[in-house]
Amino acid sequence: MDTRCGRAVRRHGGPHRGARDPVLLALRRERCRPGLLGGDRLPGVARSAVAGRRRGHIARPLRDHVDARLHPRPPGRRRIRARRPLCHRSARRARGELQRGALALRGGARAGHRPLPSHHGGEPRRRRPRRVVSRGRGGVVAVTDLLSLTPDAARAAVAPWLAARSEPAYRGSQIVARLWQRPVASWEEATELPTALRRALAEAFPLRRLRLVTRQLSRDGTEKFLWQLEDGEAIESVLIPEGKRRTLCISSQVGCALGCVFCATGRMGFRRNLAPAEIAGQVRELLLSPAGQAPTNVVFMGMGEPLLNWEAVDASLTILNHPDGFGIGARHITVSTVGILANLAKLARRPEQFRLALSLHAPTSALRLALMPIEKKYALPDVVQALQQFRRRVTLEYVLIGGRNDDLETADHLAGLAKPLGALVNLLPLHPGGAPDLTPSSRRRMLEFERRLRSRGVEAVLRRSRGLDISAACGQLRVELEPRRKVRAEEHARVE
Ligand code: SF4
Repeated sequence: MDTRCGRAVRRHGGPHRGARDPVLLALRRERCRPGLLGGDRLPGVARSAVAGRRRGHIARPLRDHVDARLHPRPPGRRRIRARRPLCHRSARRARGELQRGALALRGGARAGHRPLPSHHGGEPRRRRPRRVVSRGRGGVVAVTDLLSLTPDAARAAVAPWLAARSEPAYRGSQIVARLWQRPVASWEEATELPTALRRALAEAFPLRRLRLVTRQLSRDGTEKFLWQLEDGEAIESVLIPEGKRRTLCISSQVGCALGCVFCATGRMGFRRNLAPAEIAGQVRELLLSPAGQAPTNVVFMGMGEPLLNWEAVDASLTILNHPDGFGIGARHITVSTVGILANLAKLARRPEQFRLALSLHAPTSALRLALMPIEKKYALPDVVQALQQFRRRVTLEYVLIGGRNDDLETADHLAGLAKPLGALVNLLPLHPGGAPDLTPSSRRRMLEFERRLRSRGVEAVLRRSRGLDISAACGQLRVELEPRRKVRAEEHARVE
């Protein structure tokens, strides 16, 4: 007999216990294999989970990890019975670690198995949708946030659950269709599904909602929505109708860490990232509202810097664009960013033709640094170079601030930067909400600035302000609005 096998059995509780326990059996099998060095080669989390299980409590690394997710639960959520399910989850995870570890030790992953994730380099792991443990009708059940998954992932998550309930596979398509295509406020409304299945869905896959706190309607038709999230935070969306277009500005973070001086959100500071269910949920809630009209265009120009919440924005882009999601054409979806280089490259690698808008606001590094602190980390020349990765036309956003970035010499610098890129320049009036010492450019200066850019061969469009009477812009919900046309003088009179 191989002595290493005997050592493994003794160390983990004797032959009888080892013979009973599938985890220890798997552990012993790995140690018995010739050429392996036993414990040194097994994954650390699995080892500690196994040891913790034998001692009758949760292994420390897993316990810490799960505690961190459980304790900050929002007020009002039902009490979570943590101890027993967590032990089970630890053991399940340990078995998974053992199996994956064994595969890796055998020289690579089998087809259908992913390699062990690396924590020290390469692509970061995609965060799983929120899974919490709550009391359901049949006791304690795990729930999955389907609305934070892409349509394909949601279908894959539902399939084994349906199979376990002996439901036909086509129910999966019916369920996914009710997430975004024909959304329901609760599973109870999905009357094409049997009543028992609807009840079970409500327990296993509850639908996250955003609570509408305020809805304001501007004289010009712009609508502003204030949504309350489960943890009490609030975000805004703004719907801008223009002819047949209905453009929805959505938020990607609560607050923003970047502190651009002209932006109200920047002054508020960063609170947290939004989940995909909260980002795409802004569109979903619009569909669920009594008017129920879908937006034709979506722009990530609300609160937050989308590329600092890349994982959630990445999934949200898929949900917005996918035929089983909202089905909005990629060219009707715009991501606006200050230029977070690593994630800009990831956006450029996506095959869809999503549009990109760069929040430029200054054509030189020195001037940009005075307006946007992010210039310290991502210098303008590097950001401009990164734009070359995009196979589609880029838009440069430029808020005109009186006496700061609106002189004609600056317009010449801007033209020198925009022309080689073939970029469209959106000139935006300054909205209230940023630093109090900033004032909007005069109408005359804005028109001169626009003319100067055009005379240098740059396509520039002066946008008009929308929703000023309801503070729809708040400094950061900017005006990617109307079809390109010359703005009448009296429209800008309201800005001055
Ligand atoms: S303009 Fe955008 S990036 Fe800058 S502070 Fe406001 S939300 Fe953040």
